[in-house]
Amino acid sequence: MKKILAHLNIIAENLENNSEILHANKINLVIAKLVESNKQCPDATQKIELNLKNRQKAIDEFGYGPADPSQKNEKFWKKKMDMWKVDELSDVKNMLCGNCAAFDITSGMLNCIEKGIGDDDKSFSPLDTIDAGQLGYCRFLKFKCASERTCDAWVTGGPITDKKKK
Ligand code: SF4
Repeated sequence: MKKILAHLNIIAENLENNSEILHANKINLVIAKLVESNKQCPDATQKIELNLKNRQKAIDEFGYGPADPSQKNEKFWKKKMDMWKVDELSDVKNMLCGNCAAFDITSGMLNCIEKGIGDDDKSFSPLDTIDAGQLGYCRFLKFKCASERTCDAWVTGGPITDKKKK
């Protein structure tokens, strides 16, 4: 990657020197995108043990769950209602990872998750796994969380997307 970037920089410089500013800018944009996409992925997206450790911490200390979001999970949601001091179940059921300010589903992060899952197991498509669990990365608790779950650290204003990042 370093070599490619160095070559692109030389090309951009030559274009600038020849007053081909528009073309130089296009190359500079490509360089910026390459640098961005080559940024390091969070460790927990690449190391399953670390992800599991952080997820367990989220369960133990921040009430991350429910285990199976497709079930009623009355006890789980009642606890959340008590914690947030609300009377309506719908109030807490709308406070999910999927709309939490820590939930990162930018394309760069999804690439990281895909890359990490791909390294875990080659027998299935990482993209299928991401879609099935609707995974994103929790920037607060540093693990791959599912959009249909929640935790006590939920914050309004999410998710983090490419559009919001700009
Ligand atoms: S902080 Fe937000 S994204 Fe992270 S686990 Fe809690 S609810 Fe989900």
